[in-house]
Amino acid sequence: MGSAEPRRLAALGGKPAFDAPLYVARSLAPDSERFGASIQQILASRWFTNNGMYAQELERRLEQRLGVGFCLLFCNATVALQVALRALDLSGEVITTPFTFPATVHAVQWNGLRPVFCDIDPETYTLDPVHAAKLITPDTSALLPVHVFGNPCHVSEIEKLALDRQLRVIYDAAHCFDVQTLDRPIGAWGDLSVLSFHATKLFHTAEGGAIVGSDPALRERIARLRNFGIVDEETVDGVGLNGKISEIHAAIGLALIDRIDGEIEARGALTERYRRGLSEVTGVVFQKLAPATRQNHGYFSIEIDEQSFGLSRNEVHDALRAENVITRKYFYPLCSENPSYRVLPSAQPSRLPAAHRLAERILCLPLFGELPTEDVDCIVERIARIQSEAGAVRRALRQA
Ligand SMILES: *Cc1c(COP(=O)(O)O)cnc(C)c1O
Repeated sequence: MGSAEPRRLAALGGKPAFDAPLYVARSLAPDSERFGASIQQILASRWFTNNGMYAQELERRLEQRLGVGFCLLFCNATVALQVALRALDLSGEVITTPFTFPATVHAVQWNGLRPVFCDIDPETYTLDPVHAAKLITPDTSALLPVHVFGNPCHVSEIEKLALDRQLRVIYDAAHCFDVQTLDRPIGAWGDLSVLSFHATKLFHTAEGGAIVGSDPALRERIARLRNFGIVDEETVDGVGLNGKISEIHAAIGLALIDRIDGEIEARGALTERYRRGLSEVTGVVFQKLAPATRQNHGYFSIEIDEQSFGLSRNEVHDALRAENVITRKYFYPLCSENPSYRVLPSAQPSRLPAAHRLAERILCLPLFGELPTEDVDCIVERIARIQSEAGAVRRALRQA
């Protein structure tokens, strides 16, 4: 801010730091010439969907890139999760986390399975394997953990638990494009992993998703379930659905896939800068990252510790909104608070203390490759100032 008088906080009547709203994510856009050429080709071919050449090509590219035995593309990750659970022929209970996007738990319920909520590790935000072990009953058939913000779960402990107790493991890897941990690609852990290619994710196809895994028999089953259960022209076997991706969506992915390395690198540098700047701010806590991991920097989250910061997460969110910095309380409220799930015994808040604490503290900040470094510096400066003027900010917010 130089020698000039530091700019007054917007919450205290100053001018907002940004002229227009700055959101947490900004989707990568394909180069219009390259994408345009693909569209021309699709229009000329009249082949819009049903395992066309763009979908097949993207599947091949993703299999290579992600280091997995197979990758089957879907119209979105929610349907992919439903199919992954169905393909494993599960029954009874599935242990999952409340600290996730609603789709994770919905996929369990849509399959007629019972979600059982497990608390999270308060530092890594992922499923707590020790709590999970205590929740296993004779009715438990699978674990459905989530790699939160791309940070891998306690994969070794989960693998051991699944082996000991004969459970299937499906990872919600929606945030986890291209992550590697403990010398394995993320998709090589568990029976199946599900990725999301929604426009807000790191790599995207506007709407889309994938199931990745290694077992060829499972691949066949999933491919069939994705296409109504159709085996051949005269045979339909199994309760399938329509989970196919269109050629136009696959073409978006093919136009973006070569840019992901650059995007990850740019986000990594911005994440570094956020971390360095915010480590000086009292009351800001960072997610603990898994060891021996190549992260993808899909998200940047902080926790606000109200006691030491002097303001609650909600107050910091509102003070930043006044600056036109639109942060997200991601994942708040917890899935276990949805009226459809709140009635489950495992959803009782007293059984999920770490998840509840985190849901009150978490805040995701803007992060995308095109975000200027100066904007990150400005957000860091505003957060530091909001903290140092916490008392005045609280009074102003209460009056507003
Ligand atoms: C985005 C997301 C999903 C759903 O993905 P869609 O492709 O939008 O259906 C599922 N789980 C998590 C953790 C997500 O962030």
